[in-house]
Amino acid sequence: MGKLVLKGIAVGCAVMSCVIAGVMVGRRVRSRRRWWNVVTTVEEFEETAETTVERLRQVVDAMVVEMHAGLASEGGSKLKMLLTFVEKLPDGSENGIYYALHVGGTNFRILRIQLGGQRSILAHDVERKPIPQILMSSTSEEFFDFIALSLKEFIERKGDNMQLSQDRGKDLGFTFSFPVKQTSVSSGTLIKWTKGFAIEDMVEKDIVECLQKALSIRGLDMNVAALVNDSVGTLAVGHFLDNDTVAAVVIGTGTNACYIERADAVIKCQGLLTTSGGMVINMEWGNFWSSHLPRTSYDIDLDAESQNPNDQGFEKMISGMYLGDIVRRVIHRLSLESDVFGPLSSKLSTRFVLSTPLMAAIHEDDSSDLSQVAKILEETLDIRDVPLKVRKIMVKVCDVVTRRAARLVAAGIVGILKKISRDGTGGISSGRIKGYKSGKMRRTVVAVEGGLYTSYTIFREYLNEAVAEILGEEIAPYVILKTMEDGSGIGAAMLAAANSARSVDTVQVL
Ligand code: ADP
Ligand code: MG
Repeated sequence: MGKLVLKGIAVGCAVMSCVIAGVMVGRRVRSRRRWWNVVTTVEEFEETAETTVERLRQVVDAMVVEMHAGLASEGGSKLKMLLTFVEKLPDGSENGIYYALHVGGTNFRILRIQLGGQRSILAHDVERKPIPQILMSSTSEEFFDFIALSLKEFIERKGDNMQLSQDRGKDLGFTFSFPVKQTSVSSGTLIKWTKGFAIEDMVEKDIVECLQKALSIRGLDMNVAALVNDSVGTLAVGHFLDNDTVAAVVIGTGTNACYIERADAVIKCQGLLTTSGGMVINMEWGNFWSSHLPRTSYDIDLDAESQNPNDQGFEKMISGMYLGDIVRRVIHRLSLESDVFGPLSSKLSTRFVLSTPLMAAIHEDDSSDLSQVAKILEETLDIRDVPLKVRKIMVKVCDVVTRRAARLVAAGIVGILKKISRDGTGGISSGRIKGYKSGKMRRTVVAVEGGLYTSYTIFREYLNEAVAEILGEEIAPYVILKTMEDGSGIGAAMLAAANSARSVDTVQVL
């Protein structure tokens, strides 16, 4: 009896251990399966977002086709290809003191520069201030009075520091980064507000007239000599510093590009007469779209939930406003599919909770235990104590999103170069100097501005690398991307100089 009981207990124990072992193996298998789900989802994402050089070349060609269509007729393409009436770009010979105002970036900016000829900037003063929320949906009078008063105070504060002579320093460039129907280099009407502004009585009004009126009410005798958007400002400063600059790209919160086009290529404006034969075209390229863009389910969801569905498709894949949110969407999906990120955090359902600078900090964490990643996961997303392999997944997702964005911008840039025959693919006429001994390429500079490019090192490196990859090693050395810190504001002041009523020289853009 006693023996039997002992035997029974032994058998019982053996069965229990088998059960426990079985449960543990089962858990391990399940956990492995969950891990496998995560790996598979990330791999699928990477595959759909892939930007092989072949695919990038398709995007280049699509960009060229859309540029042609946008130049052929109004509404001919998602690319608006707006005329800027800028046909005189600064060339470095400008002299004197000029002012600029910049509305439409993160902050309102007021600038003053002193130019000394020979491409020199003798002095550069800038002041940033936020626009009070209430003014963003007030009346045009109130809004422009705030701008005029801010400028007046700036001049009063800084006025003593520079030798402000009687007849100089009264020209003003205005960078206004909203969609504008330009009617001359110094006039244009607002098409619509974006970025949270809603001053209804401004729509379809002439922006320069409103500013000019506000300035004179405040007793400022200044002449608004140029109305531009930020990409045109960037092109201007690029051209001031280097005459080989033919295009400019802005990649900050949003994105845009402009370039110098031949006047006769602007079919939609037949008989467009310019003294130089060329004009800067504002592409509004954030709205570019092509079926060749590697779009994922996360992009589709982001677009559907955005304030402007079916709009700004390119921008939603490449600009600082959105990159962090694409990453957030992928992590949300991974958290729904598995518990490797711990219990599902409600933060993951909050749009824009992961900003692009935080995403960059995750991506650029070079500590061996990815401690920065752990900190951001905890502080921003309420995700705690995840193992190293999960932190590595975070970094991987950021890498896929940023690499795709940077490479698509590169394709866009090469698209512009191809449109103006500076990409080396069209033989002798394609960027090669006419009449020069065959085979000699022309140097081509593209000015680049914006926080994503200037502050996110890996993004910048991917972009530069992809431009070289698409162009090929023979052509790539002739194409130079130049960073323009704060270019858009300074550029507007320089355009005011080049287009000032007092400027005697005409500067050819081509
Ligand atoms: P804006 O676009 O408002 O004119 P910026 O050109 O300075 O201003 O760009 C700001 C944008 O750049 C931010 O919204 C952000 O998306 C991005 N950005 C700024 N700093 C970083 C950074 N360190 N890493 C990644 N992105 C950044
Ligand atoms: Mg900006």
